Amino acid sequence: GAEGILRRQALRESAARTYARSLPIVPVRARGLTIEGADGRRYLDCLSGAGTLALGHNHPVVLEAVRGVLDSGAPLHVLDLATPVKDAFTTELFACLPPELAADARVQFCGPAGTDAVEAALKLVRTATGRSGLLAFTGAYHGMTAGALGASGGAPDVRVTRLPFPQDFRCPFGVGGPEGARLGARWTESLLDDPKGGVPTPAAMIVEPVQGEGGVLPAPDAWLRRMREITQARDIPLIADEVQTGVGRTGAFWGVDHAGVVPDVMVLSKAIGGSLPLAVIVYRSGLDVWAPGAHAGTFRGNQLAMAAGTATLAYVRKNRLAERAGTLGERMLTALRGLACEHPCVGDVRGRGLMIGLELVDPETGAAAPALAAAVRQECLDRGLIVELGGRGASVVRLLPPLTLTDDQAAAVLDRLADAIPAAAT
Ligand code: PMP
Repeated sequence: GAEGILRRQALRESAARTYARSLPIVPVRARGLTIEGADGRRYLDCLSGAGTLALGHNHPVVLEAVRGVLDSGAPLHVLDLATPVKDAFTTELFACLPPELAADARVQFCGPAGTDAVEAALKLVRTATGRSGLLAFTGAYHGMTAGALGASGGAPDVRVTRLPFPQDFRCPFGVGGPEGARLGARWTESLLDDPKGGVPTPAAMIVEPVQGEGGVLPAPDAWLRRMREITQARDIPLIADEVQTGVGRTGAFWGVDHAGVVPDVMVLSKAIGGSLPLAVIVYRSGLDVWAPGAHAGTFRGNQLAMAAGTATLAYVRKNRLAERAGTLGERMLTALRGLACEHPCVGDVRGRGLMIGLELVDPETGAAAPALAAAVRQECLDRGLIVELGGRGASVVRLLPPLTLTDDQAAAVLDRLADAIPAAAT
């Protein structure tokens, strides 16, 4: 039974296991927003495989695409050989890319995870520029392998220069918003241009259009545009890590679209594999300096993931799910701001599209309240709602529902959250 499975896995798996620790569920069935546990309990899943499931669990078009490959007799493993399945995937991917990039892009299949694609991007820009330094931001999350980890906040890598993400200015200088964005741009410029105390021209700047794991912090549009101008003027490639923000999640097809910014490299994973592991980088052809075989790997040709990804990208594009995520997300944010007015422990509500965060605070001091956030997550789980935590102090409750979320489902999610917050606060 479920209890036995949970007990055995708790004994066998590493102490590093994460989601399995906070979600003692044994999923046996899933469809759309809903996960069903072995004990028959049903949950509304607003974690969505950490933002992977753009169409929710087991969407019919995804299942059909995967079955199509399985039933066709096509090989499941062919390293990175060209296949009709890969051809269809790259065609659909290029149809979805910002047109300016699609017109002159190369794709490198990495794999199978987002962190692998980040590694590939870092290696590409270092090879292409002959430089090694990297500009990354406070609170960033790019993955768990050495290079990607070095670029993430809190994990020092000697080659990484850490710049404050705009919202961080509210801490040292007591300002955020447009002022933080302006100061952030000035800081970056003076760092790059100061002949004495500055940094050597780096190989790239890497940025998330919305920091996800960092606590759902949207990069202000004007700031992102300045970062584009600053990097372009100095011939520094700009890498957009769209692993979590891509494929409609934020209310635009790509997170950078809000600012109208076209990066030199885009890092893609999660939703592009339509529930299955797939990761690529897409970059301007001028950066394509690899020697043949310079970036290899056995698992860069997952045919099932490509088929599922093609179906997902096409469905999101044709059904304008990015727009839907934008309007529904706005409505949910408004409802949640109402909730924050009722409950002073909700210190901030923010997000973009269906990437939403509620920051829990101590109402007296305004300090981050991770224990309270954990209690909210638990109260949500008790009410059949799965949410995740993020942010520097794990004090942000995060919602990443599928883009197929209906109005009724959104209302059910909000109802459960509205119950869970006061229950956790008392
Ligand atoms: N970049 C971002 C922005 C992410 O959110 C994540 C995963 N949460 C990663 C990279 C790493 O992806 P993966 O977990 O697939 O290695």
